[in-house]
Amino acid sequence: MREPHAVKRITYLDHAATSWPKPQPVIDAVVMALTEAGGNPGRSAHTLALAASRLILEARTDVAALLGVQDSRNIAFVPGCTAGLNLALKGLLRPGDRVLVGSTEHNAVARPLHALAATGVRVDVVQGDDAGRIDPDDVERALAEAPTRAVICQHASNVLGTIQPVGDLADIAHEAGAYLIVDGAQGAGHLKLDLTALGADAYAASGHKGMLGPQGVGVLYLASGVHPTELTQGGGGSNAGDPVQTDSRPDRYEAGTPNTPGIAGLGAAARFLAANGDAIRAEERRLTRLLYEQLLEIRGLRVLGPPPAEERVPVVSIVHDRVDADRIAFELDSRFGIAVRAGLHCAPWAHTTAGTAGRGALRFGIGYGVTESDIELAVRATREVLA
Ligand code: PLP
Repeated sequence: MREPHAVKRITYLDHAATSWPKPQPVIDAVVMALTEAGGNPGRSAHTLALAASRLILEARTDVAALLGVQDSRNIAFVPGCTAGLNLALKGLLRPGDRVLVGSTEHNAVARPLHALAATGVRVDVVQGDDAGRIDPDDVERALAEAPTRAVICQHASNVLGTIQPVGDLADIAHEAGAYLIVDGAQGAGHLKLDLTALGADAYAASGHKGMLGPQGVGVLYLASGVHPTELTQGGGGSNAGDPVQTDSRPDRYEAGTPNTPGIAGLGAAARFLAANGDAIRAEERRLTRLLYEQLLEIRGLRVLGPPPAEERVPVVSIVHDRVDADRIAFELDSRFGIAVRAGLHCAPWAHTTAGTAGRGALRFGIGYGVTESDIELAVRATREVLA
């Protein structure tokens, strides 16, 4: 059994890894799916199976509305952002293709591309500045050098907080006949999204970070006309006699029994964000700026990423000139009950770009539920650990 006191004392500043605690309606929706809609959706025709189908339909409609997607069939539920990115990359790229990729990408992009490079995909990196900002002119120049199948870029860095100009990149990529594939793990929820206006061809997002849903579910948006080959074939409830995987969306990309409780939770999270997202984002921005400015005043600390006046997602990473990030994280947790993340954050490219490849950094991740007194405690505790 969980010890309630152990949970209560945590000051949770690891939202970039996963958001916690979840809004109550998300928890309620997961419980409701397990207790009242426990059938297998899209298969049997009994009451519990139909209830599960209905939950998924509602969740897809509400997630699509939150993300500015008119046709909810363009939203596939996937196990997470990593799975969505793998599907988009491996489903669209072929040996001989060339891709351009940003220099702060997470391993969820870097590793599939490494695997694809072994099959003959040419991967060229467009270098950002030390805050990770990609200059669209550099992308345009690189596109002019050789035919390119896709530009791949994260919406925002999980280390530096930097927001990339993905709308501009979509225009530039399309002019060159290339797809724009976006890793939206740190964008969805923390940034107000209109994916139709943004123009990305594929946008993958985690359900469990800024979107405030449960772990184990994510979203892959595919624009109409973008049809990656599915990575998994299997059951889906329709055309069971046909040996060929259906090409109708979203079933094509959702073979097998889905994570119904997770999807129901994500649907509730989408409704919660539709009602409260603007206020949550404004508070995240305010607290991020406050944290950044106060950390800057601590001697020996370097705060990574763009300056506080520039818009960023609610991630603030620091390095100290003497004390290792791991040590600071350990002290913050053991002495003050503050949960943060130290190391390379699955993003060695971002650390190389920021000049912190050797040692990594300590990351504070702000999100829903974080208060000003949490920020004050984090700053005071960091000061004491470094004193
Ligand atoms: N991309 C970025 C920028 C991330 O921060 C993360 C998670 O940390 C991922 C991709 C992978 O997301 P998930 O673990 O939800 O698949």
